[in-house]
Amino acid sequence: MDARQKTELLRIAAGRVEFDSPMTRRTTFRVGGNADAVCEAKDIEDLCRILPFLLEEKIPYLVIGRGSNLLVRDGGIRGVVIVLSGNLGRIECKEPDGSEILAGAGLSVADLLIGCRKRGLSGLEFLAGIPGTVGGAVAMNAGAFGDEIGAWVREVTLVHPNGELHVMDRSRLRFSYRALDIQKGAIIARAGFRLIRETGRIVAERISGYLWRRKSSQPIEDASAGSVFRNPPSDYAGRLIEQAGLKGKRIGGAMISDRHANFIVNKGGATAADILSLIDSVRETVMRTTGIQLKLEIHVVGDPFNAQP
Ligand SMILES: Cc1cc2nc3c(=O)[nH]c(=O)nc-3n(C[C@H](O)[C@H](O)[C@H](O)COP(=O)(O)OP(=O)(O)OC[C@H]3O[C@@H](n4cnc5c(N)ncnc54)[C@H](O)[C@@H]3O)c2cc1C
Repeated sequence: MDARQKTELLRIAAGRVEFDSPMTRRTTFRVGGNADAVCEAKDIEDLCRILPFLLEEKIPYLVIGRGSNLLVRDGGIRGVVIVLSGNLGRIECKEPDGSEILAGAGLSVADLLIGCRKRGLSGLEFLAGIPGTVGGAVAMNAGAFGDEIGAWVREVTLVHPNGELHVMDRSRLRFSYRALDIQKGAIIARAGFRLIRETGRIVAERISGYLWRRKSSQPIEDASAGSVFRNPPSDYAGRLIEQAGLKGKRIGGAMISDRHANFIVNKGGATAADILSLIDSVRETVMRTTGIQLKLEIHVVGDPFNAQP
């Protein structure tokens, strides 16, 4: 980005803009180089101004939530990383009986669940402990314990790169395993959910139950991005990795968790290159021992280290 583009971005965006911003602070893996810019969008109008500007200037952009499913390479991100805050982190009731809610895409999953508990709305408790945002969870069709967020979504509001706003209702949304099919460059600004009336106490109990199950099976105290690989049809990536004897294997600061073999954890000082080498090694070993090609669930973005000028 040149100086004029930076000045213009500062003028257009209502929220904070940070240049040369470290992605280690914005990802749960705690690795990755710097982004040219990180720009906070505070409401839909803000997005409708920022995206056409970036499109016009041919500046690449990437929207992120909590970076909990992302591996940012060590060379960082060229272009603008967009994060959602302000009005895009709010929740409101839609139906008169209060069973339908609209949640801003920047709202954390944890706050979404607090909102559901307060309003006595059940359905999304299985998401408890997923450290992302509503936008990231919908974009990834986050799932756990046999349920997926896509099953509860009624509508999604998208801002397209040209600044146009589209509300897609359920019949037009194509969710699949850990994915929602949306136009390239479109940003989820908010999502509507149809939920079930329940007492706040029962919702709270279910949330605690799911959190307990998660804590007993996942290394949540370590920096990670959750499951690294997608589960192959009718099997579990974690089972295949464990069977290949890879639990505890380490490259630099990156280690295959000895609690959950589909988690790679940053034991301190890991680089994205360490994690990528470990990923290659897992894939190669699992392919050799089982004939199964593991596919990545995490999204790998950014430049390799030596690509920066
Ligand atoms: C300890 C731990 C446990 C986890 N457990 C689970 C689990 O049980 N189930 C599960 O499914 N996942 C799990 N995850 C992975 C991750 O938390 C989820 O995928 C989460 O939904 C990602 O949300 P995020 O906001 O962090 O998205 P990010 O990681 O920031 O982004 C993920 C992708 O979504 C896109 N995206 C983000 N926001 C938007 C938006 N507003 N509009 C359009 N695209 C967007 C990004 O560009 C990126 O491609 C876990 C991760 C950790 C660290």
